[in-house]
Amino acid sequence: LFTELTSSNGSAARAGRHSKATHQETKTYNSRLVLRTIYDHGQISRADVARRTGLSRTTVSELVAELLAQDLVEEIGFGLSNGGKTPILLQVRDASRSLIGVDLSRDEFRAELVNLRGETQHAVSQPLLGRRGKAAIDLVYELLDELVPRATSPVLGIGIGSPGLVDIERGNQVHWSVNLDWMDLPLRGLIESHYDVPCSVLNDCQASAIAEHFFGPDRNRSHNLVVIKSEQGLGSGLILNGQIFHGDNNGAGEIGHVVVQPDGLPCRCGNRGCLETLASVSGILERIAAQRPRIPRTAVYNPARRRQLLDIDEVRRALDNGDPLVRQVVHEAGAALGTAIANLVGALNVQRIVIAGGIVALGQELLNVIQEEVLRRSLTALARETEVVFSSLGSRITILGASAVFLQQELGLTPFR
Ligand SMILES: [Zn+2]
Repeated sequence: LFTELTSSNGSAARAGRHSKATHQETKTYNSRLVLRTIYDHGQISRADVARRTGLSRTTVSELVAELLAQDLVEEIGFGLSNGGKTPILLQVRDASRSLIGVDLSRDEFRAELVNLRGETQHAVSQPLLGRRGKAAIDLVYELLDELVPRATSPVLGIGIGSPGLVDIERGNQVHWSVNLDWMDLPLRGLIESHYDVPCSVLNDCQASAIAEHFFGPDRNRSHNLVVIKSEQGLGSGLILNGQIFHGDNNGAGEIGHVVVQPDGLPCRCGNRGCLETLASVSGILERIAAQRPRIPRTAVYNPARRRQLLDIDEVRRALDNGDPLVRQVVHEAGAALGTAIANLVGALNVQRIVIAGGIVALGQELLNVIQEEVLRRSLTALARETEVVFSSLGSRITILGASAVFLQQELGLTPFR
């Protein structure tokens, strides 16, 4: 997905070093390097761009002139002089292009038109209401029909985060999505032919990993990252050596359907006691609902709503109030997640593990249980260096990551090595 666009030390490509590179390739490469340097620094002069990229001032001036003509970059006034001429500062014009991100992983489909910093320009959503198959595809069209015409600048692409397995080699087909009843659905082709805009389809957890890598607080630092997302379902996205890792059959990170409790609750995949039944948001809600009638004194018991599920914020309040049933279910979820993380750490030795999705609402008490379990179940030396944190990107994480694919693909704005 993320093709190698920069040399390993991030410096400029020169024709002599890559004799096979054509003039045009070198120019595209250098132009992207200049744009990325401006993007990363916010405001920067041509001279500083030259210093940071190792390109000559003449080359930088030529490339900046083209970026100005393309409206991607703008001059915003004068910076401080350090002796010589007062430098003109450049910045990326964030509204000069638009991106669309779509999140199909929740009980409502959401889509947003965003600018080059991932800031919302317009947002739409529609409850799924059990729609599957063709009806679910129509819902995607409905959202995009509303968003696409609202773009006030060229749309670089439509990025979709979908639950299930996505076959990258066969052109982003949704190979298998149980809850949407999609099988070998050529979603990317459908969207591209309908809107005449490039489309990319990724598993929603992989999209979340890209979001954390691109927009998270650790941007530009770690090249390895695991993002575990707990929402309706549970899965993870792996970034290894600065690249999304798909695995042999695009199933890398599918930890939600590993059985952790052989006699546990039935799972939508057909098995029993999958990690997802214990530690996804819907799993937690269902387990509380299933046990409530047996423990009528629990604070969250409400006879009128006995058959309804709570929402995650109600679970948080009950947890804060020390509700014993809720505490037990949440702690079991945390222990199961901690075990899964310990296994990942043992296999991959990735130091940064980010937990995302609705489960983050459960706060520090859950995080403590997870961290303790990782410590208990890992080699001490590895566990000490492992950082398990909650994502700060909130419920937009899938949308952010799905759209960021085009920041890389179309503009080369990657923080990756
Ligand atoms: Zn399962």
